[in-house]
Amino acid sequence: MLKTALNYSHELLEEIIKEGDTVVDATMGNGHDTLFLSNLVGANGQVFSFDIQEQALLNTKKRLLENNSLNNINLILDNHSEIDKYVNSNIKAAIFNLGYLPSGDKTIITKSSSTIKAIESLLDKLIKGGRIIIVLYYGHDGGKIEKDDVLNYCSNLNQDLYRVMTYSFINQRNCPPICLCIEKK
Ligand code: SAH
Repeated sequence: MLKTALNYSHELLEEIIKEGDTVVDATMGNGHDTLFLSNLVGANGQVFSFDIQEQALLNTKKRLLENNSLNNINLILDNHSEIDKYVNSNIKAAIFNLGYLPSGDKTIITKSSSTIKAIESLLDKLIKGGRIIIVLYYGHDGGKIEKDDVLNYCSNLNQDLYRVMTYSFINQRNCPPICLCIEKK
């Protein structure tokens, strides 16, 4: 069976992330990706995870405790557009889940201006062969604007510097998510 966009996003991360790498979860939410990244980079790696909602940090802390997670995670309550304040090193990979916090406040959504600012900061820090993965959920109010802006921004990235691809099902109901990947050449 074909992989979902979410499963594919994890495969794209797994393919390149090695023990000791530094990586970013730009939209912590309930912490699934933070935990996944922490296991991939191991005790000598670093995960920087961002969210603007206290609830996301609480949910993530709970998940990490339940899973005896490693001590390699920095949970940051701030906008991912402020990444430069917290991450000084180069990074191997980053992931975004655009949209709202599942089972949270559906009116707090990611927005294109801060999303694109965060992508720009991350591209500066990305090492050769590194990847930024963006899982775009856009069925909610305001989601289509962000989808269009992000796709437009990413379509215009210089081909000499980046490979950019999307993976999505094109005959499904209810706006199935799009998995987008930017790889630095
Ligand atoms: N990866 C998560 C799902 C993320 S949902 C999981 O595995 O559960 C999207 C999250 O992005 C929400 O929690 C929302 O609060 C957060 N968010 C919205 N705008 C943001 C911003 N500008 N900076 C950081 N996080 C943001």
